[in-house]
Amino acid sequence: MTDCLFCRIVAREVPATVVAEDELALAFRDIDPQAPTHVLVVPKVHAPDLAALAEIDPAALAAVGRMVAAVAAQEGAESYRTVFNTGAGAGQTVWHAHAHVLAGRSMQWPPG
Ligand code: 5GP
Repeated sequence: MTDCLFCRIVAREVPATVVAEDELALAFRDIDPQAPTHVLVVPKVHAPDLAALAEIDPAALAAVGRMVAAVAAQEGAESYRTVFNTGAGAGQTVWHAHAHVLAGRSMQWPPG
């Protein structure tokens, strides 16, 4: 059994509120939402971060990108923010590439 949390969510070994799925990617609600819409979009293949995913499986990265847009549309978001935290200093806490999709409130720039 893998100790990667998001691999375990993909395998349905850990419960999550899934909002979209295709052959290559899965989208589910963040357990600690930072906006009215806060969905994580993950590749089904394991890759520790965005750059690794681009090397390991470009098709899965493209699927994540398409699913980000599909989730935003499904949530009725005209504007939304997509975040890939990379590295602990940037706030990454789960070492399986994931896009945060945040919407439903005004966003500040620069981010904290
Ligand atoms: P990161 O900090 O790596 O960019 O994002 C990891 C995200 O995963 C965080 O926003 C955190 O709230 C979310 N998260 C951590 N554990 C779980 C979990 O068990 N289920 C779900 N749905 N989200 C989780």
